[in-house]
Amino acid sequence: MTARDSRSLLEVLEHHYGDLESRESLGDGVPLTRVILLLLARGSKVRQATQVLERLQAEYVDWNELRVTPTYELRKHLRTLEHAAPAVASSKAEPADSSKEGRIAAPEVRADKADQIRELLSTVFNRFNKLSLDFMREGSSEPDAPRKRAKFSQWLEDHQPAIELMLASYCGGKMDPATSSLVQRVIQRIGWTRGKTGAVATRAALLAHGEGLPPLALQWRFAQLAAHVCHARTPECGACPVAASCAVGRKTVKPVKAKAPAAVRKTAARVRK
Ligand code: SF4
Repeated sequence: MTARDSRSLLEVLEHHYGDLESRESLGDGVPLTRVILLLLARGSKVRQATQVLERLQAEYVDWNELRVTPTYELRKHLRTLEHAAPAVASSKAEPADSSKEGRIAAPEVRADKADQIRELLSTVFNRFNKLSLDFMREGSSEPDAPRKRAKFSQWLEDHQPAIELMLASYCGGKMDPATSSLVQRVIQRIGWTRGKTGAVATRAALLAHGEGLPPLALQWRFAQLAAHVCHARTPECGACPVAASCAVGRKTVKPVKAKAPAAVRKTAARVRK
């Protein structure tokens, strides 16, 4: 892949998914709140996820009240959360017009998220006997913080690898997107690594093609790409915004030919007659 191709691909990713990359955009800084926002935003628009989060915070006294709320009730609060489907792949890797972005109401996505939030809250409560993740903060004075942190990170990594990495970066831990199997998988498909998918090859590819973007930005964009279209088993290349710049997408998606204007088509028809 040429440097130009890589740059185009990163521009498309930024256009579609580059909206959750600063500490400010992750809200009030409470680790548990951030994880919940990340869960809500994964595969959806950050603006909608933030609104849902604010609604939940207004509706419930605290996360413990939400923990004991029936899932069907939680799902109702997530009803405005859409699964943002990217525009159909363009033949050139240019940012698509956001007005053309598809939107599919996805009740199953909302149901998944409601289940994930309930599971997250139960796990935190059952394993740590409270609903606080303050031990994840940088310089936490909580006794046993490193052990709890490792334990919770492992749980998150098993469930939501991208979220674990993002949370670690926000809470002071070191983050290396190259160790994420999700990032390894996606960048191998787009062709930044050939054959190898390990951390070493991935790190080298990110350095070579990542345009110096911060790890968090790369992590979030690739995680969103994976959540929207580049699924582990069944990538939806036909709906992928970076198909034109992706090694797999170029093989599986035929470029859409631009339609000639109506006047030109009529003239061509007359000439044929
Ligand atoms: S074109 Fe297909 S394989 Fe490539 S990034 Fe998109 S979904 Fe993944």
